[in-house]
Amino acid sequence: MIHLKNVEKVYRTSSIETLALSNINLHIQKKEFVSIMGPSGCGKSTLLNIMGLLDAPSQGTMELDGNPVNNFQDKALARLRNEKLGFIFQSFHLINDLSVLDNVEIPLLYRRSSARERRLLAQQALEKVGLSNRMSHFPRQLSGGQKQRVAIARAIVGRPEIILADEPTGNLDSAMGNEILSILQQLNSEGATIVMVTHDEAMAKRTHRLVRLFDGSQVL
Ligand code: ADP
Ligand code: ADP
Repeated sequence: MIHLKNVEKVYRTSSIETLALSNINLHIQKKEFVSIMGPSGCGKSTLLNIMGLLDAPSQGTMELDGNPVNNFQDKALARLRNEKLGFIFQSFHLINDLSVLDNVEIPLLYRRSSARERRLLAQQALEKVGLSNRMSHFPRQLSGGQKQRVAIARAIVGRPEIILADEPTGNLDSAMGNEILSILQQLNSEGATIVMVTHDEAMAKRTHRLVRLFDGSQVL
């Protein structure tokens, strides 16, 4: 499903070059739940950005379903991102002026679905994360765990095959974190492929496979 071959990422600023990733080889199978761990600065976000088509490798290839993504134009990449991928972040990234329901509909605005269809899909996604009773609330009225559940609903509303989560439990206490992980496990058992960055060994143990990074390299 996701295949990185000899991926290297170099960030160049005016004065310095940072080798953020070096010789990464990683094959993520359909329906796998993979966690990525490693100290701060080891390249976890860079790796997730490359898998999420938000950034391109400096060397090597990133393939999605067997297609090298460097063959795609920006517009095609944006479409792939919208259709195939759902993103979840540590700090939720909800829009405070929009209701829960409107937040969840956002990814569908880039598609040709009707307002009615959008509403229905958003309602279904919120049901899935147990937040049907909060649809007209605003993010500030929710707990951290509830906000993350809204963010998960937004990530899955377009039924992506892949969910990329960057420390989804990092801002939550352990009870809420466990709840979020259970939701991700449930989505995975229903067919979603999930890649999750985490600092939490206990969370990583609940996934199928752990990839460790150190200084931009895979620890084997
Ligand atoms: P992690 O997510 O594991 O903390 P990152 O992928 O954010 O690590 O960063 C890996 C390395 O790349 C770090 O040394 C970081 O300072 C550097 N880096 C990340 N993003 C940029 C950028 N946009 N420009 C320059 N250097 C960057
Ligand atoms: P139906 O076609 O009867 O709506 P689905 O199995 O397609 O049933 O979807 C049921 C629920 O699962 C939906 O609410 C949807 O949000 C969620 N869902 C479907 N596919 C995925 C996926 N790949 N990742 C996460 N959630 C999904």
